Amino acid sequence: MRMVFECVECGGHYLPPEGMVYPDGPASPVWCSPCQTSKRTAGLREDPLLARLALATARAALARRAAEAAEPAAVGRADVRPSRPPLSRRARSGPGGLRGRLG
Ligand SMILES: [Zn+2]
Repeated sequence: MRMVFECVECGGHYLPPEGMVYPDGPASPVWCSPCQTSKRTAGLREDPLLARLALATARAALARRAAEAAEPAAVGRADVRPSRPPLSRRARSGPGGLRGRLG
């Protein structure tokens, strides 16, 4: 299975080759091949931090996809939702109401 990346330049999703190498050079984890080509032509290089982040994100997504494919039963378990919305309780016990009563 190949990793899917999102191009930071055009926002499109792309699938570089498994070895992250195109026939004409290494694939970028931040730019799709057309954007990478235009960046390289302009003399720009990818941000190494951004590249690492993109790689980690794509790896996590790939692992999740692989896990889902291997274990179809997990879909049923993932559907369990909290029975109560988490917001209402906090909204009532905010600092505003309490302070008004004390002062
Ligand atoms: Zn692009």
